[in-house]
Amino acid sequence: MAKAKATADTSLCKECRLCVSYCPKNAIEPLEELNAKGYKIIRINEELCIGCGRCYKICPDYVFTIHTLE
Ligand code: SF4
Ligand code: SF4
Repeated sequence: MAKAKATADTSLCKECRLCVSYCPKNAIEPLEELNAKGYKIIRINEELCIGCGRCYKICPDYVFTIHTLE
C-alpha cells in the first residue's frame, strides 16, 4: 500500500501536461474539461498513485500536494 498520495488543485493548472508524461504510474489523466482560466485540466487516478512526488516536483504551477498516509 502506498505511503503517500497526490491531490491536485486543478484551478491552478495551465495545461502544460508535463505531469502526464512524468508520472511513472500513468496515474495522471489529461481531461477535456476546462478550469475557470480556460485551461484543460488533469485528474489523478488515486488507485494508481504511489505518492512518489514527481508531479509535485515537475508542475510549474503548484497544482499538486503530496499527503503522507498513516
Ligand atoms: S504539470 Fe501542472 S500545470 Fe502542467 S498539466 Fe500538470 S497540473 Fe497542469
Ligand atoms: S505522486 Fe507520483 S504516482 Fe502519484 S500522481 Fe504524482 S507522479 Fe503519479
